[in-house]
Amino acid sequence: MILILAISHKFQACIVVLNLVNSFLPTCIKEWNKLDSSVKQSASIVQFRNSILKTIRPVQNNIFDICDNEGIKLLTRLRLGLSHLHKHKFDHGFRDTVSPMCSCNTEIESVTHYILRCPNFNQQRIHLMNEINKIVPNLLLENECIFLSTLLYGKSEFDNDLNSKILLLTLEFIHSSKRFDMPLF
Ligand SMILES: [Zn+2]
Repeated sequence: MILILAISHKFQACIVVLNLVNSFLPTCIKEWNKLDSSVKQSASIVQFRNSILKTIRPVQNNIFDICDNEGIKLLTRLRLGLSHLHKHKFDHGFRDTVSPMCSCNTEIESVTHYILRCPNFNQQRIHLMNEINKIVPNLLLENECIFLSTLLYGKSEFDNDLNSKILLLTLEFIHSSKRFDMPLF
């Protein structure tokens, strides 16, 4: 197999003719060709590496300066799908969770069910909705997906202060539900 490898302009027209079979190079070339031209034209190796890392590292979810370590830990678990909720434990094969159904028996215990629908937490939810309505009334008009996402992550068009207030209300819901007041396993 003959390959012609053209390495970045910074390294000048290095045209290499290689006779390779079963090499990692074809994959590298394929991946190189997928890169954005701005990445390919990085001025230095460091800049190139940083650009690559930006594309493969997950964006850190903002916690908007909230100082509630336990609450943030629980929120992060909900965000990652690694919480006490039956759906999460069932999906990850926890032996003590033989079904993803909620104890209320109306639905699978997903994050959506837990925060927006589970009858076990109606009282906490009414408080959450009332408080959200006071600070961002239009948020209640959003579809369920956007509404839930905003409760979990905040919203990019909101400022830090508003997002912080929203997340604090979500944490209040989480704490007052006592759903996670037990060991995860
Ligand atoms: Zn339920």
